[in-house]
Amino acid sequence: MQNSKVGISKLLIYIKIGIHVLFKYRHQLSLKFLYSATTLLFAFYHNKLIKLNNTYKLHLYLPAYPTRAFFKAVEDKLLSNPPKPVTIVYSTTKSCTYKCQHCYQRLDKGADLPLDIMKQTVKAISDAGVCFLNIEGGDAFLRFDELCAILDTVDDSVETWVNTTGANVSKEKLLTLKEKGMCGLMVSIHSPIAEEHDKFVGVEGAFELAKQTLKLCDEINLGSAINTVLEYDKIKKNELPQIMDLAKDLKCGFVQLIHPKRAGIWLENTELNKEDNAIKEYVEKAHKHYNGFKTPKYPALPAQAEEEHPEKFGCTSGAIDRFYIGASGEIQPCEFLNLSFGNVKDEDFEIIFKRMREYFKTPCEDWLCATQSGAIYELMEKHNLEKLPIPYEYTKELVESWDRGKPTNLYKKMGLYQNE
Ligand code: SF4
Repeated sequence: MQNSKVGISKLLIYIKIGIHVLFKYRHQLSLKFLYSATTLLFAFYHNKLIKLNNTYKLHLYLPAYPTRAFFKAVEDKLLSNPPKPVTIVYSTTKSCTYKCQHCYQRLDKGADLPLDIMKQTVKAISDAGVCFLNIEGGDAFLRFDELCAILDTVDDSVETWVNTTGANVSKEKLLTLKEKGMCGLMVSIHSPIAEEHDKFVGVEGAFELAKQTLKLCDEINLGSAINTVLEYDKIKKNELPQIMDLAKDLKCGFVQLIHPKRAGIWLENTELNKEDNAIKEYVEKAHKHYNGFKTPKYPALPAQAEEEHPEKFGCTSGAIDRFYIGASGEIQPCEFLNLSFGNVKDEDFEIIFKRMREYFKTPCEDWLCATQSGAIYELMEKHNLEKLPIPYEYTKELVESWDRGKPTNLYKKMGLYQNE
């Protein structure tokens, strides 16, 4: 059961969360903690609050209150020095029967990790602080036994969501995953028009499958989100309101707007950056509208373009808040940055993680997926690479001298990441 809380009921829940956090950490209370906790909590306030069964989601990528994972996130940010990452996108397989036009891992090569290394890695990720595990493929449902085994490996200090196209999903599989602790599904729908979506993902009937999967989520009380890549063309055709209507009818909790990025198969696509500002402007307005009190019946609308705004969290790649592990074990700062800092098949996770963090000590404003995509493409060309991500020996050439922009003001205000 997912429904939104707006207006006074939202404010009351925020106050309750604030009091709960202060009481729980009363022995660590200080003026700094009080200030950082309040600033951080209210950094989420412009999002619609979603009640999911007996919990509250302040944001899609923040574990629900009052779960153990939620309090792990609070401790990661406010009580750890340096603060720890909250989110990982973790690919369990490259196998996929779809041919999505934007696939950021289409050029990734190498065999999928064996299960034992996957399980070790997931444990290490959790120990590093991660409390929101977003599993994806390829199609994660094509390695269903491994998916189940990963869910068995994580405990309730980690909230897990799985990405899917809607293919290879059944009610039985969803019930099994729910039983093992999966909180929700993110289902890709890139257009409200069936033929357009099918064309974008290269599979006839994909739109109907995605819809069926979302109906199943509602039937068995699983959290659900639509993931949609919002290109400028779709904005011009006014497709977002239709996607929001569809999501409302399907009783989804969230519609996540994914900004089109030059990564993977789109790395060469220089046209994308040209439309960035127009998309951001549109998303800002849509975010305000669908997360406001005038649209209580609609799902929440999280949007990368909004959260990563220089006045909000900025770019949080490199395990500031988030990072990525590809199916073959390469650790990247973000799924949209095809740069590897090492492979868990060759080295311990902790060594690679520490190496990557060295280059991301302070959160900064620049969207690296936008400012560095050209440089990543050039590296690929320079070294005649036919696959991604760029291996660490070449990644080094870029990251040792790159400019990540101004430090993010919000974190500076909270006094976080200042001592590294
Ligand atoms: S590189 Fe930074 S701005 Fe781009 S998607 Fe990743 S976290 Fe966001």
